Amino acid sequence: MKAEITSIGTELLLGEITDTNASYIAFQLPLLGIDLYWVTQVGDNFERMKECLERAWKRSDLTLTTGGLGPTEDDLTREAIATMLGEEPRVDPDLEQQIREFFSRRSIEMPERNIKQATLIPSAEAIPNPRGTAPGWWVERGGKLLIAMPGPPSEMQRMWEKEVSPRLRQRLGHEIILSRTLKTFGHSEGAVDEMVSPLLSATNPTLAVYAKPDGIHLRITAKAKRREEAEKMIAQREEEIRSLFEESIWGCDDETLEAVLGALLSEKGLSLATMESCTGGLLANLITDVPGSSAYFKGGMVAYTDEAKISHGVDPALIVRHGSVSPEVAEAMAEAARARLGADIGVGITGVADPEEVEGKPIGSAHIAIVDGKSKRVIRGSYPPLRPEVKRRAAYHALFELRRTLLASK
Ligand code: AMP
Ligand code: MG
Repeated sequence: MKAEITSIGTELLLGEITDTNASYIAFQLPLLGIDLYWVTQVGDNFERMKECLERAWKRSDLTLTTGGLGPTEDDLTREAIATMLGEEPRVDPDLEQQIREFFSRRSIEMPERNIKQATLIPSAEAIPNPRGTAPGWWVERGGKLLIAMPGPPSEMQRMWEKEVSPRLRQRLGHEIILSRTLKTFGHSEGAVDEMVSPLLSATNPTLAVYAKPDGIHLRITAKAKRREEAEKMIAQREEEIRSLFEESIWGCDDETLEAVLGALLSEKGLSLATMESCTGGLLANLITDVPGSSAYFKGGMVAYTDEAKISHGVDPALIVRHGSVSPEVAEAMAEAARARLGADIGVGITGVADPEEVEGKPIGSAHIAIVDGKSKRVIRGSYPPLRPEVKRRAAYHALFELRRTLLASK
């Protein structure tokens, strides 16, 4: 199979960005036994783009494009492919629905311009893109193949890994490889390893354990002749693992803990406020990484010193009696955040990040309090004694415990 890559975008020709998409694909093609003959860069110009695509279509078996699938006027890749093949683009109702849902999940109205991302031509099939709004196009006609992928590298790479590469493998008669990552929190790496140890020696599907700041990840990888077979193998293994871990599994693949929590808060119509000490605002930062978080996040205070905690509403007597790193002060912080910001749920975090023990409490210990006016929970955390690590782990721990609280509440 003779392949070529067309990288689309005026920024490339102006030297503003480097064509990392072409390098990524160029590295991947030999792994499939596909020969790459040409790489072309072209700007967002309809005529020149059409010319490049015509030449590629004529001389190559497989044309891979990246870029130009966005909603703006200079994103012309779909139009150029349609014109080059003499086919009429039409809005596909299923794609339109998906794109509208992508926006409504983020509580944003879809700009009408995005509708062109829902178009297809008769020879094209949509390639899913959960990381963005632009689906790719898989175009097949007369034995030739053209695959159009989005420009943003994280979207393009996911599409390659999860969609394009498995389909090309299948087409080439290779075995296809699929994987799925299950994300857990609350068990140590060693404990997770032990729980799944009978599964670790299996060769197909394989299972690997990775420690990450947001918990321990389990990656299942299956090889099969057909995609459906690999999917079935993964689903079976996933079920076994889910029955071992139950609610400790908070998400999979691309999901983030902050987005999972955000979706739960939105669904329940509840709002959140935070007061953080040892995490220095990292919890609020993670929560606000999620588009649409203003719908449920009222805000947060970073109260680092005792004076700051007191000025934000923590009773000084509690600090004197129990110390600033204590379950009592964590709870008072959560109550104060909830009351001051008028939220349904308040979270307080206080702990020791370093460099020395505070009040005789070990480095890496923290208290996370969650209050909602009816009930309260204070959880103790203990993390590796490195400052950035304590901050990250405590913030993710708080997100996980919030999720647990919400799942438990009716
Ligand atoms: P586009 O879909 O063409 O509007 O591209 C969106 C963004 O993706 C661009 O602004 C770049 O940041 C990135 N991008 C597009 N093409 C490439 C490429 N060939 N290599 C690396 N990044 C790219
Ligand atoms: Mg562009």
